[in-house]
Amino acid sequence: MSLDKAAPYPWQGKAWSQLAMARRQGRLGHAWLVSGRPGLGKSAFTGALARAVLCESPGDSACGNCRSCLLMAAGSHPDFCGVEIPEDKSGILIEQIRELNEFFTLSTHYGRAKVALIRPAEAMNRSAANALLKLLEEPPPSGLLILEAARPDLLLPTLRSRCQGISLDGITEADALAWLASQLPAAAPETLQTLFLLGGRAPLGALAAQEAGLPALLDKLVPQMVGVARGRIHAVQAAQSLADAPVSTVVDLMQRLVHGVAAGEAAFLSQSGAADLLALRDVLHSQPLFGFQADMMEVKRLATSAATLRQADLSETLWLAWMKATRTRRRRA
Ligand SMILES: [Zn+2]
Repeated sequence: MSLDKAAPYPWQGKAWSQLAMARRQGRLGHAWLVSGRPGLGKSAFTGALARAVLCESPGDSACGNCRSCLLMAAGSHPDFCGVEIPEDKSGILIEQIRELNEFFTLSTHYGRAKVALIRPAEAMNRSAANALLKLLEEPPPSGLLILEAARPDLLLPTLRSRCQGISLDGITEADALAWLASQLPAAAPETLQTLFLLGGRAPLGALAAQEAGLPALLDKLVPQMVGVARGRIHAVQAAQSLADAPVSTVVDLMQRLVHGVAAGEAAFLSQSGAADLLALRDVLHSQPLFGFQADMMEVKRLATSAATLRQADLSETLWLAWMKATRTRRRRA
């Protein structure tokens, strides 16, 4: 089996080989920080690494059949500890790192290694991060800590420096598009390109964008934004015309579009759509734009938190805010 094929996704081949080589040479050490922007399959990668280290068969990746692999698949391996954000909390807490410390003080059940996976590592609060730092200052024998982070820059530098780092960000556009084409054989190259950009230049993000119907939504959204800004469509009409789309998805796209207008780029739009949207720069000024960005965040917060609020009302609020942001200057003039 080639090393590249052992990686969960084809674009992770190089990173996977690097780790496999370190394992074979006994240089795996105690801690790895796996980083990469969302949509690059970090979780699949770190999961595969944890399984491979614990697997009882020789090889660079987990066999899937041994006692260890079966326990991992069942989520009950006694030598594995996964640390994630608790359901009712917004971050990883110090208590969880204390439990992790205890986990590492016990000897291994199967004599191979003890593996912990912290995801996302940047969700550790300050005290949790400090506790982990202490743990890393005296690393447990035969223990392996895997940290997963989309934003490694948010971690304590002292924590980062105690980990060996591996980044999945190095994916090329060509590799991403080739994989995307294999997943969506019916899609035209322009569609793949749009999805790639909508998905944050990441293949899994692109696939998620396709599954969420973002290209079609974008085609509907841009004319409404332009129409409302130009005074040709009323905010309430715009809200009605997009009634089928989840408000939080509309807000996500609007945030990106507004950001694109402000930055003068809208590469993921069709040529005409981009031209119409970028022409809005003459009605978008920093102050109303700032207000609109706050409105968007508030609508999104409400759309994702309060089930009792009607989506239609939130949608109207959003479009009225857009109308206000884009027509402020005209009214003054
Ligand atoms: Zn196995």
